[in-house]
Amino acid sequence: MTQTPLLFIPGPVQTHPRVKAAMAQDIAPWDNDTRPRYAAIRERVRAIAGGREGEHVCLPLQGCGHFIVEAALRTFVPPGGKVLIPNNGNYGVRMIRLAREAGRVPVAIDIPESQVATGAMVARALAEDPAIGTVSVVHSETATCVINPMEEIAAAVQAAGRRLIVDAVSGFGAIPFDIGAHPAADAIVFSSNKCLEAMPGIGFAVARVDRLEACRANAGSWSFDLSDLLHHSRTFGWGSIRFTPAIQSLAAFEVALDLFEAEGGQPARLARYSENARILYNGMVALGLTPWLPKERQGPIIVNMHQPPDPAFALQPFVDALKRRGILISNFSTTDAPTFRVGAIGRLFADDMRRAVAAIGETLEEMGVRRLAKDDLAA
Ligand SMILES: *Cc1c(COP(=O)(O)O)cnc(C)c1O
Repeated sequence: MTQTPLLFIPGPVQTHPRVKAAMAQDIAPWDNDTRPRYAAIRERVRAIAGGREGEHVCLPLQGCGHFIVEAALRTFVPPGGKVLIPNNGNYGVRMIRLAREAGRVPVAIDIPESQVATGAMVARALAEDPAIGTVSVVHSETATCVINPMEEIAAAVQAAGRRLIVDAVSGFGAIPFDIGAHPAADAIVFSSNKCLEAMPGIGFAVARVDRLEACRANAGSWSFDLSDLLHHSRTFGWGSIRFTPAIQSLAAFEVALDLFEAEGGQPARLARYSENARILYNGMVALGLTPWLPKERQGPIIVNMHQPPDPAFALQPFVDALKRRGILISNFSTTDAPTFRVGAIGRLFADDMRRAVAAIGETLEEMGVRRLAKDDLAA
Protein backbone atom coordinates (compact mmCIF):
# COMPACT_ATOMS: atom_id res chain seq x y z
CA MET A 1 0.00 0.00 0.00
CA THR A 2 1.40 3.37 -0.93
CA GLN A 3 0.07 6.61 0.49
CA THR A 4 1.33 10.17 0.51
CA PRO A 5 3.69 10.03 3.48
CA LEU A 6 3.49 12.45 6.41
CA LEU A 7 6.60 14.60 6.89
CA PHE A 8 8.44 13.90 10.15
CA ILE A 9 11.21 16.40 9.37
CA PRO A 10 12.25 19.77 10.83
CA GLY A 11 11.03 21.78 7.85
CA PRO A 12 9.41 22.12 5.49
CA VAL A 13 6.82 20.57 7.76
CA GLN A 14 3.51 18.83 7.37
CA THR A 15 0.80 21.48 6.92
CA HIS A 16 -2.97 21.72 7.33
CA PRO A 17 -4.98 21.05 4.12
CA ARG A 18 -6.36 24.60 4.30
CA VAL A 19 -2.80 25.99 4.25
CA LYS A 20 -2.03 24.05 1.08
CA ALA A 21 -5.37 24.99 -0.50
CA ALA A 22 -4.73 28.71 0.00
CA MET A 23 -1.94 28.50 -2.59
CA ALA A 24 -4.20 27.52 -5.48
CA GLN A 25 -4.85 31.02 -6.78
CA ASP A 26 -3.24 33.78 -8.81
CA ILE A 27 -2.47 36.93 -6.81
CA ALA A 28 -1.07 40.37 -7.66
CA PRO A 29 1.28 41.41 -4.83
CA TRP A 30 0.72 45.16 -5.33
CA ASP A 31 -3.08 44.95 -5.59
CA ASN A 32 -5.10 47.05 -3.17
CA ASP A 33 -6.80 43.91 -1.83
CA THR A 34 -3.42 42.33 -1.07
CA ARG A 35 -1.75 45.32 0.59
CA PRO A 36 -3.79 45.55 3.82
CA ARG A 37 -3.55 41.79 4.28
CA TYR A 38 0.22 41.90 3.94
CA ALA A 39 0.47 44.79 6.39
CA ALA A 40 -1.75 42.92 8.87
CA ILE A 41 0.37 39.77 8.63
CA ARG A 42 3.42 41.85 9.53
CA GLU A 43 1.72 43.20 12.63
CA ARG A 44 0.65 39.74 13.74
CA VAL A 45 4.16 38.35 13.33
CA ARG A 46 5.69 41.27 15.22
CA ALA A 47 3.32 40.56 18.09
CA ILE A 48 4.21 36.84 18.21
CA ALA A 49 7.87 37.83 18.62
CA GLY A 50 7.02 40.19 21.48
CA GLY A 51 8.02 43.17 19.34
CA ARG A 52 6.67 46.50 20.57
CA GLU A 53 4.79 48.91 18.37
CA GLY A 54 7.04 51.77 17.30
CA GLU A 55 10.12 50.01 18.68
CA HIS A 56 10.20 46.88 16.53
CA VAL A 57 9.09 46.08 13.00
CA CYS A 58 8.48 42.85 11.09
CA LEU A 59 10.50 42.63 7.87
CA PRO A 60 9.59 39.76 5.54
CA LEU A 61 12.24 38.75 3.01
CA GLN A 62 11.83 36.43 0.04
CA GLY A 63 13.55 33.10 0.44
CA CYS A 64 14.63 30.59 3.03
CA GLY A 65 16.08 30.64 6.51
CA HIS A 66 19.70 31.05 5.38
CA PHE A 67 18.74 34.18 3.47
CA ILE A 68 17.19 35.89 6.48
CA VAL A 69 20.13 34.89 8.71
CA GLU A 70 22.53 36.36 6.14
CA ALA A 71 20.42 39.51 5.89
CA ALA A 72 20.56 40.01 9.67
CA LEU A 73 24.34 39.49 9.75
CA ARG A 74 24.87 41.89 6.87
CA THR A 75 22.55 44.52 8.26
CA PHE A 76 23.63 44.59 11.90
CA VAL A 77 27.33 43.63 11.72
CA PRO A 78 29.41 46.17 9.80
CA PRO A 79 31.77 44.93 7.06
CA GLY A 80 34.92 43.64 8.75
CA GLY A 81 33.15 43.63 12.11
CA LYS A 82 33.62 40.79 14.58
CA VAL A 83 30.66 38.61 15.45
CA LEU A 84 30.76 36.03 18.23
CA ILE A 85 29.03 32.76 17.30
CA PRO A 86 28.61 29.96 19.84
CA ASN A 87 28.92 26.79 17.79
CA ASN A 88 27.36 23.58 19.02
CA GLY A 89 26.09 22.12 15.78
CA ASN A 90 25.49 22.27 12.06
CA TYR A 91 23.56 25.54 12.06
CA GLY A 92 26.27 27.25 14.12
CA VAL A 93 28.75 26.12 11.44
CA ARG A 94 26.47 27.51 8.74
CA MET A 95 26.13 30.85 10.50
CA ILE A 96 29.93 31.11 10.73
CA ARG A 97 30.20 30.52 6.99
CA LEU A 98 27.45 33.04 6.19
CA ALA A 99 29.28 35.66 8.27
CA ARG A 100 32.69 34.94 6.76
CA GLU A 101 31.49 34.94 3.16
CA ALA A 102 29.70 38.23 3.79
CA GLY A 103 33.05 39.74 4.80
CA ARG A 104 32.39 39.77 8.53
CA VAL A 105 34.81 38.22 11.02
CA PRO A 106 33.23 35.29 12.88
CA VAL A 107 34.72 34.42 16.27
CA ALA A 108 33.52 30.94 17.22
CA ILE A 109 33.03 29.46 20.66
CA ASP A 110 33.42 25.75 19.94
CA ILE A 111 31.16 23.68 22.17
CA PRO A 112 30.62 19.90 22.07
CA GLU A 113 27.48 19.11 20.07
CA SER A 114 25.52 17.64 22.94
CA GLN A 115 26.16 20.65 25.22
CA VAL A 116 24.47 24.05 25.45
CA ALA A 117 26.07 27.46 24.98
CA THR A 118 25.92 29.34 28.29
CA GLY A 119 25.75 32.96 29.33
CA ALA A 120 29.05 32.50 31.15
CA MET A 121 30.80 31.32 27.96
CA VAL A 122 29.53 34.34 26.09
CA ALA A 123 30.44 36.74 28.91
CA ARG A 124 33.99 35.36 29.01
CA ALA A 125 34.49 35.61 25.25
CA LEU A 126 33.17 39.19 25.19
CA ALA A 127 35.42 40.21 28.10
CA GLU A 128 38.44 38.76 26.26
CA ASP A 129 37.76 40.60 23.00
CA PRO A 130 36.36 44.14 23.21
CA ALA A 131 36.33 44.36 19.39
CA ILE A 132 33.38 41.95 19.17
CA GLY A 133 30.31 44.08 18.56
CA THR A 134 27.62 41.45 18.04
CA VAL A 135 26.76 37.99 19.30
CA SER A 136 24.76 35.80 16.93
CA VAL A 137 23.18 32.67 18.37
CA VAL A 138 21.22 29.69 17.07
CA HIS A 139 18.41 29.35 19.60
CA SER A 140 17.33 25.80 18.81
CA GLU A 141 20.18 23.90 17.12
CA THR A 142 18.21 21.88 14.62
CA ALA A 143 20.96 19.35 13.98
CA THR A 144 20.93 18.07 17.55
CA CYS A 145 17.80 19.56 19.13
CA VAL A 146 19.89 21.15 21.88
CA ILE A 147 18.12 24.37 22.94
CA ASN A 148 20.53 27.13 23.89
CA PRO A 149 19.42 29.15 26.94
CA MET A 150 18.66 32.46 25.23
CA GLU A 151 17.57 34.30 28.38
CA GLU A 152 20.96 34.00 30.08
CA ILE A 153 22.85 34.54 26.82
CA ALA A 154 20.85 37.72 26.11
CA ALA A 155 21.51 38.90 29.68
CA ALA A 156 25.27 38.35 29.18
CA VAL A 157 25.22 40.31 25.91
CA GLN A 158 23.25 43.12 27.55
CA ALA A 159 25.63 43.27 30.54
CA ALA A 160 28.62 43.52 28.18
CA GLY A 161 26.98 46.33 26.18
CA ARG A 162 27.03 44.39 22.89
CA ARG A 163 24.33 43.55 20.34
CA LEU A 164 22.48 40.27 19.76
CA ILE A 165 21.03 38.44 16.73
CA VAL A 166 18.85 35.37 17.38
CA ASP A 167 18.50 32.64 14.74
CA ALA A 168 15.17 31.24 15.89
CA VAL A 169 14.43 29.54 12.57
CA SER A 170 13.72 26.06 13.89
CA GLY A 171 11.80 26.96 17.03
CA PHE A 172 9.97 30.24 16.42
CA GLY A 173 6.30 29.95 17.30
CA ALA A 174 6.97 27.16 19.81
CA ILE A 175 10.12 28.01 21.75
CA PRO A 176 9.64 31.52 23.16
CA PHE A 177 12.00 34.48 22.98
CA ASP A 178 10.44 37.83 23.79
CA ILE A 179 12.41 40.44 21.84
CA GLY A 180 10.55 43.24 23.63
CA ALA A 181 12.12 42.14 26.92
CA HIS A 182 15.66 42.17 25.47
CA PRO A 183 16.88 45.60 24.41
CA ALA A 184 20.27 44.12 23.37
CA ALA A 185 18.55 42.12 20.62
CA ASP A 186 18.78 43.78 17.20
CA ALA A 187 16.71 41.07 15.55
CA ILE A 188 15.16 37.67 15.82
CA VAL A 189 14.91 35.79 12.52
CA PHE A 190 12.83 32.81 11.38
CA SER A 191 11.04 31.36 8.37
CA SER A 192 7.53 30.46 7.29
CA ASN A 193 7.90 26.71 7.05
CA LYS A 194 8.88 25.38 10.47
CA CYS A 195 6.89 25.83 13.70
CA LEU A 196 4.54 28.35 12.10
CA GLU A 197 3.44 25.42 9.89
CA ALA A 198 3.21 27.29 6.59
CA MET A 199 4.84 26.82 3.20
CA PRO A 200 8.49 27.63 2.39
CA GLY A 201 9.34 30.91 0.68
CA ILE A 202 9.41 33.66 3.30
CA GLY A 203 12.01 34.67 5.89
CA PHE A 204 11.10 37.07 8.67
CA ALA A 205 13.08 39.40 10.88
CA VAL A 206 11.53 41.20 13.81
CA ALA A 207 14.03 43.96 14.40
CA ARG A 208 14.64 47.16 16.33
CA VAL A 209 13.77 50.37 14.49
CA ASP A 210 16.57 52.41 16.09
CA ARG A 211 19.18 49.83 15.07
CA LEU A 212 17.83 49.56 11.52
CA GLU A 213 18.16 53.32 11.26
CA ALA A 214 21.71 53.22 12.64
CA CYS A 215 22.73 50.43 10.24
CA ARG A 216 21.78 51.99 6.89
CA ALA A 217 25.28 51.65 5.44
CA ASN A 218 26.25 48.10 6.39
CA ALA A 219 24.67 45.49 4.14
CA GLY A 220 26.69 45.77 0.93
CA SER A 221 23.70 44.13 -0.75
CA TRP A 222 20.41 45.64 -1.80
CA SER A 223 18.61 42.28 -1.67
CA PHE A 224 19.76 41.41 1.84
CA ASP A 225 19.51 44.85 3.45
CA LEU A 226 16.91 44.80 6.23
CA SER A 227 17.29 48.54 6.79
CA ASP A 228 16.25 49.04 3.16
CA LEU A 229 13.11 47.01 3.86
CA LEU A 230 12.21 49.50 6.61
CA HIS A 231 13.02 52.38 4.29
CA HIS A 232 10.83 50.85 1.59
CA SER A 233 7.90 50.45 4.00
CA ARG A 234 8.19 54.05 5.11
CA THR A 235 8.38 55.28 1.53
CA PHE A 236 5.75 53.09 -0.15
CA GLY A 237 3.60 51.92 2.75
CA TRP A 238 3.52 48.89 5.07
CA GLY A 239 1.45 46.95 2.53
CA SER A 240 4.06 47.39 -0.20
CA ILE A 241 6.29 44.45 -1.04
CA ARG A 242 9.80 45.16 -2.34
CA PHE A 243 10.50 42.77 -5.29
CA THR A 244 8.26 39.85 -6.27
CA PRO A 245 7.42 37.69 -3.25
CA ALA A 246 6.38 34.05 -3.04
CA ILE A 247 2.89 35.47 -2.91
CA GLN A 248 1.02 32.12 -2.81
CA SER A 249 3.21 31.19 0.14
CA LEU A 250 2.13 34.43 1.79
CA ALA A 251 -1.53 33.54 1.25
CA ALA A 252 -0.87 30.15 2.84
CA PHE A 253 0.97 31.86 5.68
CA GLU A 254 -2.07 33.97 6.49
CA VAL A 255 -4.14 30.80 6.95
CA ALA A 256 -1.36 29.22 9.01
CA LEU A 257 -1.39 32.26 11.32
CA ASP A 258 -5.16 31.84 11.81
CA LEU A 259 -4.59 28.19 12.73
CA PHE A 260 -1.71 29.15 15.05
CA GLU A 261 -3.89 31.61 16.92
CA ALA A 262 -6.88 29.25 17.02
CA GLU A 263 -4.70 26.55 18.56
CA GLY A 264 -3.67 28.88 21.39
CA GLY A 265 -0.48 30.39 20.01
CA GLN A 266 3.06 29.63 21.18
CA PRO A 267 2.23 27.91 24.51
CA ALA A 268 -0.17 25.49 22.81
CA ARG A 269 2.27 24.71 20.04
CA LEU A 270 5.11 24.10 22.49
CA ALA A 271 2.85 21.78 24.51
CA ARG A 272 1.86 19.78 21.41
CA TYR A 273 5.42 19.45 20.11
CA SER A 274 6.77 18.58 23.58
CA GLU A 275 4.23 15.79 23.86
CA ASN A 276 5.09 14.66 20.31
CA ALA A 277 8.81 14.54 21.14
CA ARG A 278 8.12 12.75 24.43
CA ILE A 279 6.13 10.01 22.64
CA LEU A 280 8.88 9.60 20.04
CA TYR A 281 11.66 9.52 22.61
CA ASN A 282 10.01 7.08 25.02
CA GLY A 283 8.56 4.99 22.21
CA MET A 284 11.87 4.52 20.44
CA VAL A 285 13.68 3.78 23.72
CA ALA A 286 11.05 1.12 24.37
CA LEU A 287 11.92 -0.36 20.95
CA GLY A 288 15.49 -0.83 22.21
CA LEU A 289 16.99 2.16 20.40
CA THR A 290 19.54 4.46 22.02
CA PRO A 291 18.77 8.20 22.15
CA TRP A 292 21.51 10.60 21.13
CA LEU A 293 20.66 13.12 23.87
CA PRO A 294 19.85 12.48 27.52
CA LYS A 295 16.20 13.16 28.24
CA GLU A 296 16.84 16.37 30.19
CA ARG A 297 18.58 18.01 27.21
CA GLN A 298 16.14 16.75 24.55
CA GLY A 299 14.27 19.63 22.90
CA PRO A 300 10.84 19.43 21.23
CA ILE A 301 11.77 19.87 17.53
CA ILE A 302 13.37 16.56 16.50
CA VAL A 303 14.50 13.39 18.23
CA ASN A 304 17.83 11.85 17.18
CA MET A 305 18.44 8.16 17.83
CA HIS A 306 21.75 6.36 17.30
CA GLN A 307 21.67 4.17 14.23
CA PRO A 308 21.64 0.59 15.51
CA PRO A 309 25.20 -0.82 15.30
CA ASP A 310 23.87 -4.07 13.78
CA PRO A 311 25.16 -4.35 10.15
CA ALA A 312 21.61 -5.26 9.10
CA PHE A 313 20.78 -1.55 9.52
CA ALA A 314 21.35 0.95 6.71
CA LEU A 315 19.79 4.41 6.71
CA GLN A 316 18.40 4.72 3.17
CA PRO A 317 16.65 1.31 3.13
CA PHE A 318 15.27 2.13 6.59
CA VAL A 319 13.94 5.48 5.33
CA ASP A 320 12.47 3.82 2.21
CA ALA A 321 10.72 1.13 4.24
CA LEU A 322 9.30 3.73 6.63
CA LYS A 323 8.07 5.77 3.69
CA ARG A 324 6.14 2.74 2.43
CA ARG A 325 4.41 2.85 5.81
CA GLY A 326 3.48 6.51 5.35
CA ILE A 327 6.24 8.02 7.52
CA LEU A 328 8.91 10.18 5.87
CA ILE A 329 12.05 11.02 7.86
CA SER A 330 15.37 12.60 6.83
CA ASN A 331 17.75 10.34 4.92
CA PHE A 332 20.88 11.89 6.43
CA SER A 333 22.46 12.27 9.83
CA THR A 334 23.29 15.69 11.31
CA THR A 335 25.24 14.67 14.41
CA ASP A 336 28.86 13.66 14.99
CA ALA A 337 27.84 10.02 15.56
CA PRO A 338 25.58 8.32 12.97
CA THR A 339 21.97 8.91 13.96
CA PHE A 340 18.58 9.05 12.37
CA ARG A 341 16.16 11.81 13.27
CA VAL A 342 12.41 11.98 13.57
CA GLY A 343 10.72 15.38 13.50
CA ALA A 344 8.15 16.33 16.15
CA ILE A 345 6.94 19.58 14.54
CA GLY A 346 4.39 20.45 11.89
CA ARG A 347 0.69 19.57 11.78
CA LEU A 348 1.21 16.25 13.56
CA PHE A 349 -0.36 14.97 16.75
CA ALA A 350 0.17 12.34 19.43
CA ASP A 351 -1.52 9.63 17.35
CA ASP A 352 0.78 10.38 14.41
CA MET A 353 3.77 9.96 16.72
CA ARG A 354 2.47 6.61 17.98
CA ARG A 355 2.00 5.51 14.37
CA ALA A 356 5.58 6.56 13.59
CA VAL A 357 6.97 4.59 16.53
CA ALA A 358 4.97 1.53 15.52
CA ALA A 359 6.19 1.84 11.93
CA ILE A 360 9.80 2.14 13.10
CA GLY A 361 9.39 -1.01 15.17
CA GLU A 362 7.89 -2.92 12.23
CA THR A 363 10.60 -1.68 9.89
CA LEU A 364 13.42 -2.76 12.19
CA GLU A 365 11.77 -6.19 12.48
CA GLU A 366 11.46 -6.42 8.70
CA MET A 367 15.13 -5.51 8.24
CA GLY A 368 16.15 -8.01 10.91
CA VAL A 369 17.96 -5.34 12.93
CA ARG A 370 18.90 -6.25 16.48
CA ARG A 371 18.44 -3.16 18.60
CA LEU A 372 21.07 -3.60 21.23
CA ALA A 373 23.99 -1.41 22.16
CA LYS A 374 27.33 -2.25 20.51
CA ASP A 375 28.69 -3.91 23.66
CA ASP A 376 25.66 -6.14 23.99
CA LEU A 377 25.94 -7.20 20.36
CA ALA A 378 29.60 -8.10 20.82
CA ALA A 379 28.84 -10.15 23.95
C1 LIG B 1 16.11 25.44 8.98
C2 LIG B 1 17.09 26.35 9.66
C3 LIG B 1 17.71 27.42 8.99
C4 LIG B 1 17.50 27.74 7.55
O1 LIG B 1 17.31 26.71 6.70
P1 LIG B 1 16.81 26.95 5.18
O2 LIG B 1 16.97 25.60 4.60
O3 LIG B 1 17.67 27.99 4.58
O4 LIG B 1 15.40 27.42 5.30
C5 LIG B 1 18.55 28.23 9.71
N1 LIG B 1 18.79 28.02 11.01
C6 LIG B 1 18.20 27.03 11.69
C7 LIG B 1 18.48 26.89 13.14
C8 LIG B 1 17.34 26.16 11.03
O5 LIG B 1 16.76 25.16 11.70
